[in-house]
Amino acid sequence: MNAPLSRPLVFHRNRERGDGEFATRLAHAVAGDVFFDQASRGRYSTDASIYQIEPVGVLVPKSIDDVRAAIAICREFSVPVLARGAGSSQCGQTVGAALVIDQTKYLNRIVALDRDAMTATVEPGVVLDQLNTSLRPHGLWFPVDVSTSAQATLGGMAGNNSCGSRSIAFGNMVHNVLAVDAILSDGTEARFGPMAEMDTAPPRVRELVGRLRAIGTRERDEIERRVPRVMRRVGGYNIDVFAPQSERPYTTGGGVNLAHLLVGSEGSLAFTRRLALKLCAVPRHRTLGVVNFPTLYKAMDCARHIVRLGPAAVELVDRTMIDLARGNPAFRPVIDAALIGEPEAILLVEFIGETQDDPVRRLGELVALMGDLGLAGSVVQMTDAGAQRALWEVRKAGLNIMMSMKGDGKPVSFIEDCAVPLEHLAEYVDRLTQVFAKYGTRGTWYAHASVGTLHVRPILDMRRDGAAKMRAIAEEASALVREYKGAFSGEHGDGLVRSEWVGWQFGPRLVGAFEEIKDLFDPAGLMNPGKIVRGTRMDDATLFRFRPGHRTLPLATALDWSAWDVHHDPVADTLSAPGTGGDPARGFGKAVEMCNNNGHCRKFDAGTMCPSYRATRDEQHLTRGRANTLRLALSGQLGPNALASEAVRAAFDLCVSCKGCRRECPTGVDMAKMKIEFRHHWQQAHGLSLKDRLVAHLPRWAPWAARVPWLPNLRGTLPGASRIGEALLGFSARRTFPAWRRDTFLRDAGMAGADNAGDADVVLFVDTFSNYFEPENARAAVNVLRAGGYRVHVARASGDDERPGQPLCCGRTYLAAGLVDDAKREARRVVAALAPHVARGAAIVGLEPSCLLSLRDEFLVMGLGEAAQRLADNAFLVEEFLAREHRAGRLLLPLAPLPQTRALLHGHCHQKAFDAMGAVREVLGLVPNLAIDVVESSCCGMAGNFGYDAVHFDVSLRMAELALLPAVRAAAPDTLLVADGTSCRHQIADGTRDTGMREAIHCIRVLERALVAGDPPAPSR
Ligand SMILES: Cc1cc2nc3c(=O)[nH]c(=O)nc-3n(C[C@H](O)[C@H](O)[C@H](O)COP(=O)(O)OP(=O)(O)OC[C@H]3O[C@@H](n4cnc5c(N)ncnc54)[C@H](O)[C@@H]3O)c2cc1C
Ligand code: SF4
Ligand code: SF4
Repeated sequence: MNAPLSRPLVFHRNRERGDGEFATRLAHAVAGDVFFDQASRGRYSTDASIYQIEPVGVLVPKSIDDVRAAIAICREFSVPVLARGAGSSQCGQTVGAALVIDQTKYLNRIVALDRDAMTATVEPGVVLDQLNTSLRPHGLWFPVDVSTSAQATLGGMAGNNSCGSRSIAFGNMVHNVLAVDAILSDGTEARFGPMAEMDTAPPRVRELVGRLRAIGTRERDEIERRVPRVMRRVGGYNIDVFAPQSERPYTTGGGVNLAHLLVGSEGSLAFTRRLALKLCAVPRHRTLGVVNFPTLYKAMDCARHIVRLGPAAVELVDRTMIDLARGNPAFRPVIDAALIGEPEAILLVEFIGETQDDPVRRLGELVALMGDLGLAGSVVQMTDAGAQRALWEVRKAGLNIMMSMKGDGKPVSFIEDCAVPLEHLAEYVDRLTQVFAKYGTRGTWYAHASVGTLHVRPILDMRRDGAAKMRAIAEEASALVREYKGAFSGEHGDGLVRSEWVGWQFGPRLVGAFEEIKDLFDPAGLMNPGKIVRGTRMDDATLFRFRPGHRTLPLATALDWSAWDVHHDPVADTLSAPGTGGDPARGFGKAVEMCNNNGHCRKFDAGTMCPSYRATRDEQHLTRGRANTLRLALSGQLGPNALASEAVRAAFDLCVSCKGCRRECPTGVDMAKMKIEFRHHWQQAHGLSLKDRLVAHLPRWAPWAARVPWLPNLRGTLPGASRIGEALLGFSARRTFPAWRRDTFLRDAGMAGADNAGDADVVLFVDTFSNYFEPENARAAVNVLRAGGYRVHVARASGDDERPGQPLCCGRTYLAAGLVDDAKREARRVVAALAPHVARGAAIVGLEPSCLLSLRDEFLVMGLGEAAQRLADNAFLVEEFLAREHRAGRLLLPLAPLPQTRALLHGHCHQKAFDAMGAVREVLGLVPNLAIDVVESSCCGMAGNFGYDAVHFDVSLRMAELALLPAVRAAAPDTLLVADGTSCRHQIADGTRDTGMREAIHCIRVLERALVAGDPPAPSR
């Protein structure tokens, strides 16, 4: 078993008083959340780098007073302080044996906005997208547009001196920060800004400033000699504030601004309390020229000429990325529209301007320039904003696909942001590619050609020979960077991976000056020690996430994870057969390790992922937090048998199995499936509560309940019954329950099932919920399908079924409880019953997204063989089927306008995860004169039985209140509310009960209502 998490970076704690007293003192002194348990510390022991160090503890401060108190107590106990934003750093900046201060939950206010001066003051936990969303109505934005804009905090961006795609036009953080309000480790507070304003600072700070100035004067000649003259240089401290070296000056007047010394200091000098930022007007007009190149070399060689045209961005996409994007059906048309023939590389060249003429003119100049450079006819000109946006999305997605590589070899970030002057870019790329080949690997090139910062991550296996290769490649890359007078760290900072290279880059004299600077700010050495100065070796394997001796513990898994258990050959780019990767946890371990901690799941305003994080803002309730908890548990770092431990249960407690991560996590972490695996092991170790058993076995006892529906329905009618239910079982008394019906669909399916099983075009799979609670939905499906001319058969158990009278069931309720064997039994019945229909090409159609889509998802990891795959290929949501038929010109539904002219559509999470929302919109669009608005919502928060649990009621409603319920309440009374999930409909009804109840319906019922009255046409197919 692996050793428990260790603390490799030694700090001098007050040993007589120990951690226990430190924790107690801290907990009493602050109003925020304090965590010292092993799992919480484990969740904060990694970032998007390859490193892992267990922190001393974690503080989530409620206010800046908490931070002040914490720093004072840290000083007393000699515990280091580590400020943390999203933890998306790639170099290990945010891991350390320290008290981690997570500023994202509460320190996230935009404090002031001055529209005329175009400045804003923010707390450090404000996320870039959050800031820009609030600036948009004022025609302003903060232009350091990092790719991680949805989660990166301004405090973290300043800490790393982050840079965006458009840095050539707008600069890095250092060019856009006006002042920093900081707290030093000795408790001193001051505003660091223009030198002229420092005269009014406290005496301690005035003295500090004087000594900093003296260092600047003393080192002027060395600064001029050693600091690279490129814009993209983020290594070391910005000592060149005293002798400007950047291609783009840090200040407009040439003066010294001491805030710029703190920018890029990675939390090692002070804690940033507030930031004053320079804003820009949102560019009014943009054009995009896509230049197609026959070779990568030619593309890189042309970049230096292109930048003379004054573009806002010049971004590279190489052949591998083009191919990856073309492999995705959604992106293929977008990328194809940008290509001329089969280029080896493309450059995306963006021009911006206040008037349309300017960027259009410069696009013309680009076309002419490429002609002069021998590439006439190589530019695709895009002036349409939508087309431009779509192409930028492809560029982002290509990176994501690259990061989703399976197997132990992963693209590793350590030289991925070296910056070289543009005239050497082509040669640099060529020679570094040869270096990769020498070490048996390769890299994909992309990103910021405009500033000579090309991202490339060689694929390395950090459990085996990765560390040695990393050093060897870094040595050779650094020699190239030196030869070309470039910067070794051009975007992502120093952290643990590059602090040892600070000396290589700047020489011993400036390193000495950096150490003096560090000691002047932080004499006790408490602020993020080991970063930038006095660093560790990049290949110190004791600091790795997968350190020597790391191993996953053997595990008998309930689901089939073999697809993840593979070896990847980086040169041939091939995968070994499923199940051959050597994972003792049968692939589950490797699936969990797909999370590289990039933090993309912390986004809060688009897509679905991750609703429990959006409602709580807790790392524990985040996809990343869950993946880290699982990884630590599976490798023995949370103690023995930790998979079935309370720590893992708590991490999964608020996961609503929405599958948002399955689709939106760049590396494809599928936490909903992992939750099933966890629940299986949990229930084996601890059994199930009566409530969980009741819910799990609902499909088995439902036929009995439907015979006496008045009995279970008493809960809703008998005074006090719901409160007794809560006390005895744990179902929330504040919830209504769906009403049991006597007129179940399958009881009456004599009418619906009349079409001959042998020649039906469509086989309707009627799930438990549609059958017992909302049979009108299933009836509507039959009516609509028949009206479209389809012969409809209703799925029944096969003749040799073990329970022939029992309705078919997808097994979802069993999966939710972790009763995988029961779920498999149900799945086998479904596969057997539907196989003959699938064999003759009938479409299997269902209504409830979470049920039907199980056939395409969980059924495939249950070991059910080829028959399950064939079923998955033929299983459709009813709207997917209708949309497909419509597109093929086979659907002729007689539809008339409805009294309502607007519909508000809320998508079920699983519909979004399986890309089915387009189909819903498409079929609703068949209704004449019906305008459709889609709610930009995440999960409705009901999620099967989650929202019925008394312990989850509040958080369930909080999820719904994030977007769905406000949108429903705001909808005009005559708006049709459409939601295809039974849970979503229930949440809408429950959540609006007190404010004028609104009822949502399945989209099939909208179509049914719009059917032109009269006899449906006779089935024709
Ligand atoms: C997929 C991916 C894409 C990326 N793309 C880009 C990109 O386009 N451009 C780019 O520049 N970077 C990029 N990065 C790196 C990273 O996302 C950025 O550096 C980001 O700005 C970090 O923000 P954060 O909130 O995650 O900061 P964190 O990682 O949490 O912290 C960064 C540093 O700032 C310090 N810090 C945080 N808050 C404070 C505070 N209050 N006081 C003092 N110090 C503080 C931390 O101690 C740490 O040293 C990328 C990373 C990933 C994983
Ligand atoms: S779960 Fe996915 S999105 Fe979240 S940090 Fe891990 S890899 Fe990134
Ligand atoms: S399934 Fe949903 S709630 Fe669970 S981790 Fe993924 S995105 Fe979050």
